[in-house]
Amino acid sequence: MQYKRILLKLSGEALMGERQYGIDPKRLAEYAADIKEIAGKGVEVAIVIGGGNIFRGLAGASNGMDRVQGDHMGMLATVINGLALQSALEDVGVQTRLQSAIKINEVAEPFIRRRAIRHLEKGRVVIFGGGTGNPYFTTDSAAVLRAIEINANVILKGTRVDGIYTSDPEKDKSATKFDFISFDDVLKRGLKVMDTTAFTLSQENELPIIVFDMNKKGNLLKVVSGENVGTKVNL
Ligand code: UDP
Repeated sequence: MQYKRILLKLSGEALMGERQYGIDPKRLAEYAADIKEIAGKGVEVAIVIGGGNIFRGLAGASNGMDRVQGDHMGMLATVINGLALQSALEDVGVQTRLQSAIKINEVAEPFIRRRAIRHLEKGRVVIFGGGTGNPYFTTDSAAVLRAIEINANVILKGTRVDGIYTSDPEKDKSATKFDFISFDDVLKRGLKVMDTTAFTLSQENELPIIVFDMNKKGNLLKVVSGENVGTKVNL
């Protein structure tokens, strides 16, 4: 395996599968199987999960809701998704711990860095819920932050597109995919990989990001094996 410890970022939207809202159990089970496969090969797996399938603070704010209140709802949504993922992983026999950035002790452990690392060393999959625990941030920022904190080798951003393109492939048929691209080039070309806060945090800490299609069975294993799948953003 190319990577010993990874941070996998899954968006909330990915969990919807074909649905318009909420969680698709079939999609969840597919993800659990893929994660089990790499954990079984000795890769230490931490996961940050989004909440956009349930609630986004910005969407609340655009309907007149107080932004911070909306962000609190968004963070809780990520805990709900974390619980769902935990359940799916345990169904296939993977040991997991869910740690939350907001205290919700009856439901999840609080985020404690050393404890998270210890779980990983013992082969448990650690799911981080609650984002960063602060409003005005995203779960992409949480993913980068946690990845740095636990000394992950790489962030794997599982999406529904298979990498970073010169322009949006869903709109521009002539768009071509990068196998590799530098952080500087992403910024110069104005490409969207993560929000700026998350992206620059990753760049400053020299943490590579791989964007890949998580919905293709077996892709996760290929990525951690070092196969050229998706796009790698490096220094
Ligand atoms: N959120 C937040 N602070 C964080 C992470 C998330 O307030 O550190 C809130 C925010 O409202 C966001 C929502 O949680 O809209 C869901 O997270 P995100 O939009 O990043 O989820 P994804 O797009 O990955 O599904």
